[in-house]
Amino acid sequence: MRAHYDLHSHSLASDGTLSPAQLVNEARTAGVQVLALTDHDTTDGLAAAQAAIRLPGLQLVAGVEISVSWQSQTVHILGLGVDPDCAVLQAGLAGLREYRDWRAVEIGRRLAREGIADSYRGARALARGRIVSRTHFARFLVAGGYGTTVQQVFKRYLAPGKSGHVAGRWADLETALNWIGSAGGLAVIAHPARYRMSASKLRRLVGEFRECGGLGLEVVSGSHTRENTDAMAALCRNEKLLASCGSDYHGPENPWIRLGELAQLPPGCRPVWESEHWPPR
Ligand code: AMP
Ligand code: MN
Ligand code: MN
Ligand code: MN
Repeated sequence: MRAHYDLHSHSLASDGTLSPAQLVNEARTAGVQVLALTDHDTTDGLAAAQAAIRLPGLQLVAGVEISVSWQSQTVHILGLGVDPDCAVLQAGLAGLREYRDWRAVEIGRRLAREGIADSYRGARALARGRIVSRTHFARFLVAGGYGTTVQQVFKRYLAPGKSGHVAGRWADLETALNWIGSAGGLAVIAHPARYRMSASKLRRLVGEFRECGGLGLEVVSGSHTRENTDAMAALCRNEKLLASCGSDYHGPENPWIRLGELAQLPPGCRPVWESEHWPPR
């Protein structure tokens, strides 16, 4: 099913593998009409993506995916339609990137204890933008023969509880929502079924998110199964949230996730783009 809206994607500015311009071209080829670029903790790719739009038929939503720590877990909150010139947002993201830099060095130290030398330098060299993510470490580890796929080295070294994992110290939920609100954006909980959380804990997250002004839930995600989507659709309807959909595309290397290839929103879910909050700016 071709979706006209793909509201979650990554470029080289974070841990994607396409430049913003390549991503925009790929979205157009895929028949996407509204694309959100939502890099992790940075808006650096947005100007180049906007510049690459040129022809009508494809619209860019300026987005960001903010790393949040909530009850000892990392959750990702999308800001859709943010003003990249908002000083409050940029100061917040700069703080997260500072933590990221510290964490990357720390991941390198921990992997060194496992006998894996120079991974910080290796990951940093693979990063083309201002952030080093675990994905860059994973690519370095695969290149070094420590596993055959990114997924496999995540499982072995980088996932929670593994030797190279550092517990996140990201933004508070309320703080992240303030940044998004200050920047005029609409906040969406990214890939909600991916968190290792009980249904009741997830409902608590949704409750706090709504109290802080959050409006959206990513019901359809490239990383959701059909069952996940149905469960998140029920949550979305019960909690009266707006439904979003996004592939979480990181580039052509991952053949399971394609830009714009998304299931339809299940019945009864009100899409973010049909709400009075859209377009966010
Ligand atoms: P970070 O924000 O640096 O902790 O990295 C998080 C990113 O790593 C996510 O956005 C995904 O792109 C990637 N990631 C997380 N878990 C996995 C996994 N199990 N397999 C593959 N990629 C993953
Ligand atoms: Mn990522
Ligand atoms: Mn994410
Ligand atoms: Mn993402």
